[in-house]
Amino acid sequence: MGKEDRQYKKIGVMGGTFNPIHHGHLVTAQEALSQFKLDVVIFIPTGNPPHKVENRLASAEDRYIMTVIATSSNRDFFVSRIEVDRKGKSYTIDTLRMLKKIYGKDALLYFITGADAILEILTWKNTEEIVTLCNFIAATRPGYDLTRLEELKSKLFNNDIEAANEKIFVMEIPALSISSTDIRNRVKNNRPIDYLVPEGVSNYILKNGLYK
Ligand code: NAP
Repeated sequence: MGKEDRQYKKIGVMGGTFNPIHHGHLVTAQEALSQFKLDVVIFIPTGNPPHKVENRLASAEDRYIMTVIATSSNRDFFVSRIEVDRKGKSYTIDTLRMLKKIYGKDALLYFITGADAILEILTWKNTEEIVTLCNFIAATRPGYDLTRLEELKSKLFNNDIEAANEKIFVMEIPALSISSTDIRNRVKNNRPIDYLVPEGVSNYILKNGLYK
């Protein structure tokens, strides 16, 4: 992103493996942009996810390209290579520190990801510092049981629920009934993925023989 873009003050940081990106992710980003009045959403595909033992993980480059294809028609969406290009494991703390360096310490970062990923945050590297660097938007499917997320909030903020509610927000996204796992299974079993992912992403997957 260019120098002029450094004026952004409220930035959505869309973290995910995006293996592959689908319409559920895009609806999530658009909803966060609108609900939280963000200036932009930056999609950050993980390079080498520290927590993954997925044998059908497309390469970081393929996941990055699919994310670019999926977001190219939205002028508020950008994609960053920050994790794809970083050597070693993709830790969120390193990404947030880098974004603060680029956009300034006053930029308000909203880390947007799946609620199930946020539930594991206590196992992430430097959790305490991460919490000081960003707010969280936990995207859920309708009907998602929020008990564990509420427990996590109490634990992270020593039962100060008011402070927790100003840090971790929940957003219910019906389109998240689409899942990357289902899409990979469909490709493997020669079933259609039309309308689950943007057309360009579907073509890219089939053309490059991903998830077979
Ligand atoms: P994951 O465990 O594969 O995903 C958990 C759930 O969240 C899945 O249902 C997934 O659906 C959904 N999801 C993932 N990203 C989403 C998004 N941006 N918006 C809406 N739903 C989303 O999680 P992951 O994708 O590998 O990682 C999520 C983020 O957490 C990444 O940025 C990753 O780097 C970060 N993380 C950091 C650490 C660390 O720093 N140590 C450890 C773990 C995760 P789909 O499968 O359909 O996407």
